Amino acid sequence: MTRSSIDAHSNAPDASGSLATRLVHAGSPRFVEGTAPVNVPVERTSTVRHASTAAQHDVHARRKAGENIASYGRHGSQTHRALEDALLALEGGVRAFLVPSGLSAISLTFLALLSPGDHVVVTDSVYAPVRRLDTGLLQRLGIELTYVDPRDGQLEAAIRPHTRLIYTESPGSLLYEIYDLCAIARVAQRHGIALATDNTWASGILFRPLDAGADISILAATKYVAGHSDVMLGAVIARTDAVAARIAAAHDVLGLTIGADDAYLALRGVRTLPVRMAQHQRNATRVAQWLQAQPGVGRVFYPALPGDPGYALWQRDFSGANGLVSFVLEGADQHAAERVADALRLFAIGASWGGYESLVTVVAPERLTDHAQWDQAGAVLRLHVGLEDADDLIADLEQALQHAPVVALHAIGG
Ligand SMILES: *Cc1c(COP(=O)(O)O)cnc(C)c1O
Repeated sequence: MTRSSIDAHSNAPDASGSLATRLVHAGSPRFVEGTAPVNVPVERTSTVRHASTAAQHDVHARRKAGENIASYGRHGSQTHRALEDALLALEGGVRAFLVPSGLSAISLTFLALLSPGDHVVVTDSVYAPVRRLDTGLLQRLGIELTYVDPRDGQLEAAIRPHTRLIYTESPGSLLYEIYDLCAIARVAQRHGIALATDNTWASGILFRPLDAGADISILAATKYVAGHSDVMLGAVIARTDAVAARIAAAHDVLGLTIGADDAYLALRGVRTLPVRMAQHQRNATRVAQWLQAQPGVGRVFYPALPGDPGYALWQRDFSGANGLVSFVLEGADQHAAERVADALRLFAIGASWGGYESLVTVVAPERLTDHAQWDQAGAVLRLHVGLEDADDLIADLEQALQHAPVVALHAIGG
């Protein structure tokens, strides 16, 4: 990595054009001696060489002053700067921090902003490993979390004098509860509390939390940003310099870094994110509407369906929906749901989502009881609707639903 290649990438995205246009061009290499490749080179390095000790002192001084410049490989290369630029184009904000996974982006946020004795209010439908972070680490550090459903006014009532952070994820994991993030941001501002939100569902393309007043947006770039099920990656995006400085300090001492190859793959995903997301939405909408019409299928969870409790807020705040659809198999227990999952051919059984391929997961019942307003009988299947032909996916679901005695159970159950 040379000084000139670093200088060739400002950390400010090109503000011109619509989002899709900016995502195509963000982080593009500048011309050197009249030419440039389309794609940023994969620049792998551990050591950064300096032309002289004076140049080294200069880089150290600029880093100390807050500039995003590398004096060591752990700080990333021009490949990393290009991805950071693209993520800023996606989410807004002043600085993006790259970390090895979505979960480490969440952990970094908590560790950067909180001290022993601090309290956090968390929405109860969050990605389940947040609760493991709570019991497995934060409690030991003397940090206390309270889980609330913000739709019934619990959120403000849960704030205490030592509350330092509100942590949300909207739509929620598994059932896609939609929360009014603008209203939550007003509560946070009124009490002088930071607001962080996991924006993986929207992945910046469908909703920009920083524009709605959040201080931090978190991305599991593993999902739609990378989009091809071949990278683990997370990002923390800060809205203000003050928040960025807190994140930067913790990011540095935790030694968090990612490989240039992974940064490259995620950047490649960003280029096609808008077209992929639009197709995920088209396919998922078809699948969700088809599921609604099937006997033995109970509630279908997809915020873009009129009739979904979050539909009005989704319409107000989101520019689209993704490929995640969950549904209740009425009268089915976990085993019946697993028979359906096993019978699917195009939907692979697996965790994660956001890649081009379709997936299915049988949701463990104990994970649903964390959601305040879970009141359904039956088992839940979560689908990630991929980029296959929607007719093929529906045909696959049709044959698989016949493998479970769901309809019969439904009839017996009345
Ligand atoms: C998958 C996921 C994460 C964790 O991302 P990893 O890269 O798998 O660690 C965090 N938040 C949400 C909402 C997720 O779906």
